[in-house]
Amino acid sequence: MADNKGILVVGEIADGKLAPITAEALGAGKHLAGELKEELSCILIGDKVGDVAKAAIAAGADKVYTTEDAALKDYENDAYMQVVEKAAKDLAPRIILMGQTSMGRDLAPRLAFRLGVSAVVDCLELSIDGATKLMHCTRPVYGGNAKATFTSEALLQIATVRQKAMSPLAPDAGRQGQVVAFPVTLDAAKIRAKVLETIKEEVAGVKLEDAAAVVAGGRGMGGPEPFTKELAELAKLLKGAVGASRPPCDNKWVPDTIQIGLTGKIIAPELYIAIGLSGSSQHMSGCSGSKCIVAINKDPEANIFKEARVGVVGDWKVILPAFTQKIKELIQ
Ligand SMILES: Cc1cc2nc3c(=O)[nH]c(=O)nc-3n(C[C@H](O)[C@H](O)[C@H](O)COP(=O)(O)OP(=O)(O)OC[C@H]3O[C@@H](n4cnc5c(N)ncnc54)[C@H](O)[C@@H]3O)c2cc1C
Repeated sequence: MADNKGILVVGEIADGKLAPITAEALGAGKHLAGELKEELSCILIGDKVGDVAKAAIAAGADKVYTTEDAALKDYENDAYMQVVEKAAKDLAPRIILMGQTSMGRDLAPRLAFRLGVSAVVDCLELSIDGATKLMHCTRPVYGGNAKATFTSEALLQIATVRQKAMSPLAPDAGRQGQVVAFPVTLDAAKIRAKVLETIKEEVAGVKLEDAAAVVAGGRGMGGPEPFTKELAELAKLLKGAVGASRPPCDNKWVPDTIQIGLTGKIIAPELYIAIGLSGSSQHMSGCSGSKCIVAINKDPEANIFKEARVGVVGDWKVILPAFTQKIKELIQ
């Protein structure tokens, strides 16, 4: 691996388009490639890659490798691993980046094990050490209570990047890049696990991960009703989505799909309104990237007030109706 060069992003295709997380990984990769003065490439895997390759170039890739096969239509770890392992060996990048998604979480450690290197997952920041050319990877540790920076002296470094932690470049349709076929003959005997069914999450309105405003409730909401009434009303006014801390999900007040945090979704909206939740480190690790946090909590000592830009101490049953009324007046 002594001649390993460049950065390879293992891309993802979602609903026939370049997945936002891949644009974010390409944005981070471009920055690293600039520091290294090396090439940024992306590999796209699927049954048909089509114009997604152009989108990856517009998002910063200098070169896009495409691997197409009917067996690669949906993510299957044993099949995708064959492609990614071959790419790591044949293309010999210095750095491989993936999204911290169900695919990246699964592929990165397996790939690292096969190649005898390490993987740093769930990174919030990536940089290059100018002297050694090694990548430094910063990620949360101890349940989000601290951050640690890791590096590896292996000539291939693998990292996954957390969604919304890194900025994509503004897409530039005029960017020039090369699209290169990277055919892989899959060994069917090595594809031992199969996805039997994929259930698409039903979302009414804005998707939590994409919402610019999120109104989240915690245990202090006291039951399921406020989520469908008061919180939903405010979220609708702000053209946003409703989220929750873990207790409302564990108590079945709301579906698990709206849990935010370490074991839930990671979001970074412009506005995060946290109501009746204490702001535990596990919760904050899912929303600390929010641009502005507003908190309503009756306990002045609640941790959420250390995180919030604006805080109101009081019972949400009193504060929230007045808050919503004021917003109605402001946006009319
Ligand atoms: C491994 C692990 C993973 C975890 N993952 C997650 C995760 O992904 N997401 C997550 O959220 N948690 C997670 N947790 C749980 C986490 O530790 C906390 O227990 C949880 O976040 C607390 O939720 P909460 O803030 O809603 O409840 P509490 O901590 O009980 O806080 C409720 C708050 O509501 C306030 N309140 C009560 N009544 C009112 C009222 N009428 N008006 C205004 N305020 C009121 C109280 O003052 C209090 O601050 C995890 C825990 C572990 C161990």
